[in-house]
Amino acid sequence: MKLVLRGHHLLCLKGFQGYGYDENFVENMAKVNSLKNLDSTTISLTNQADDLCKSCPNLKNNLCKNQERNEIIRKMDDEVLKKIDSSKEHNSVELFKKIDEIFNNEESVSKICFNCMWHEKCLFYQKLLNNR
Ligand code: SF4
Repeated sequence: MKLVLRGHHLLCLKGFQGYGYDENFVENMAKVNSLKNLDSTTISLTNQADDLCKSCPNLKNNLCKNQERNEIIRKMDDEVLKKIDSSKEHNSVELFKKIDEIFNNEESVSKICFNCMWHEKCLFYQKLLNNR
């Protein structure tokens, strides 16, 4: 299976525990979340609408809500993509291992997660806070 994911969604998937914008979104997120654990899954990276956005009620005209909001989200993606080669396809299991190595303390995600409404529900972010 080939997935296309925004940079910052690599972190969101690590923190997912069943919450989301609506039922359809959560169902798709859960599916992508299990696919990410398969060694046969490959991931291409982007800073645009991806395989999670396509089931999101916030996606309008291929933007996250509007131009202004989309720009904020795109910057979050770019912070992740600075650290990971987005020119090639990645093996999913290896990519998520790399994510754990690179984003391993609160400071490493500060520019990405600081403004996120899912802070309290995100297992990934909460784990980093507890490791302080
Ligand atoms: S459209 Fe926006 S809120 Fe929805 S999944 Fe994509 S980035 Fe997240």
